[in-house]
Amino acid sequence: MNQVEQTQNYQEVDPSSDSLKHIREMIQSCIQCGTCTGSCPNEFAMDHTPRQLWRMVLMGQKDAIFHSRTFSLCSSCYSCTLRCPRGLPLTDAMHQLKLIAVREKLSEYKIANLFYKSFLDSVNDHGRVRELGMMTHFFLTLTDPMVVLKFASLGLKLMSKGKLSPHFGSKGDLPLGALFKKVEEMEKNI
Ligand code: SF4
Ligand code: SF4
Repeated sequence: MNQVEQTQNYQEVDPSSDSLKHIREMIQSCIQCGTCTGSCPNEFAMDHTPRQLWRMVLMGQKDAIFHSRTFSLCSSCYSCTLRCPRGLPLTDAMHQLKLIAVREKLSEYKIANLFYKSFLDSVNDHGRVRELGMMTHFFLTLTDPMVVLKFASLGLKLMSKGKLSPHFGSKGDLPLGALFKKVEEMEKNI
């Protein structure tokens, strides 16, 4: 089954009432030229190309979009945004899809969300990432010992080469609470 057939198997939603409406408006003048796909450094790892993703958004294929890994692999490099001949805000649109995945607590993105939260908590507490503390926090939230075992040898290897600090850091090294609060307020208006 090719990718287009796969997307057709997912349920389509009412274009006038779904959470994709705002994103559809952002990219509605897409002409399907494929420049975004040709510009994307992460396209090789995506199950749908960026061009296909925008087509799915225009078609209101919400299930297919959120079963796809495409938007979660966007690294916000802005190449597609700079090169799109219609001047569409594609990186922002990718970001909006990530926000929907978080806000709607989609199960496929649960682990990614927990990792993201552990990362931000570490930066919030210390002003930088404290790898050991962050990963410990992440593993505890996962409550799955198999995941810990999977990463254990890599962690030890990194530590032996001095790539991973063995220190947890203390809360309040360089807290960024005020900055995080401001971003939270700004995000309420997105
Ligand atoms: S580059 Fe722009 S117009 Fe071309 S397919 Fe991508 S989003 Fe559509
Ligand atoms: S912003 Fe995202 S989708 Fe666009 S080219 Fe970069 S990685 Fe690919």
